[in-house]
Amino acid sequence: MESENTSLLEDIRHNGKIAHLVKKSRKAYKCSECGLPTKAGEPYYIITHGGAGLRDIKFPDRVHVGDCLYSSMGFGKEEK
Ligand SMILES: [Zn+2]
Repeated sequence: MESENTSLLEDIRHNGKIAHLVKKSRKAYKCSECGLPTKAGEPYYIITHGGAGLRDIKFPDRVHVGDCLYSSMGFGKEEK
């Protein structure tokens, strides 16, 4: 199975946050949203806050692709 996750967006901006895709995780990171580790070799998203500058980059939020990304970005929360 040759999958390079081309369907994933490289950058997503929403609610002043920026999610940046990391296509291949070098190691497992703890997901900031659900607390479970990401898997090495699988994609995940780094989330930074727009306007916060590079300060955020040192300890960015890392989240799973999918539900963790969406809830972390606030998708669906502002629309009721
Ligand atoms: Zn997660």
